[in-house]
Amino acid sequence: MTIKLFESKKRCLLIGLFSGIFITTLLPKLINKNKWEKNKQQTVRVNEKNEHIFAEYSQWPPFLTDSTFDLTAWRKHCWVNQVSLPTQDPQLYYKKNYTSYPICKDVISLINSIYNMKTNIAKVKYPELFAQKIRKIFNYNNTLYAKALEQELYFVVNKYSFEHTVYNPLRGRRPVQPPEVSVEQYLSETMEKTSKNCDLCNYQNMTAMDSLGRMENQHAYSAANAFKFDQWHSMFMPKQHDITKLTYEELKDVFTLAWKW
Ligand SMILES: [Zn+2]
Repeated sequence: MTIKLFESKKRCLLIGLFSGIFITTLLPKLINKNKWEKNKQQTVRVNEKNEHIFAEYSQWPPFLTDSTFDLTAWRKHCWVNQVSLPTQDPQLYYKKNYTSYPICKDVISLINSIYNMKTNIAKVKYPELFAQKIRKIFNYNNTLYAKALEQELYFVVNKYSFEHTVYNPLRGRRPVQPPEVSVEQYLSETMEKTSKNCDLCNYQNMTAMDSLGRMENQHAYSAANAFKFDQWHSMFMPKQHDITKLTYEELKDVFTLAWKW
């Protein structure tokens, strides 16, 4: 009797031990594996959707990000849509009930997992004469002038690479002085000036070569980079000096040569 009881106790203990191991170690692994497989399938599906086979297009396709992302819903439910973001508290960037919409929660948690965003105020003082100029720049708009005295700065920091961007929306409002000569005139003068002593036009004597020698066709030529980044580092240039006048045929020759190389 005692031995039987002992045997059955031992059996229960063993069963308990094994189910304990199963629940704590194997079961979570199995569940995670299923989740991971599902995620993998979804990722593959998303990639399939965004893949372009270039030969299918007669026109270059527009740049596309995630085509399943609903920008209208994002604007409607998540983002405050203000030209100027509220300062100090990043929670105020988003609409009040944003947590009840999955799209807001998903995107915001993604953004927050990569970036830190914060706003700050930089106070500025202007001497009276300069203040008059600033007022004039902003067309005597009092709201804008007030913003110039207390400028809102937006900081975005990548948590992993520590890349850091600062945005001051007022900078975009500064007046742009019209250039003294037109862009066209500046370009044609520069082309004219540089054509007299151009190394690239005199490429036979003034550019480097690699052991493959120089390749040429009607409108283009190859040259080795004088200071390489890799064993094979070549450049392909049009023979036309004035690149603003480059024709389709000339550009095609450049790429054809690179392809042959
Ligand atoms: Zn040239």
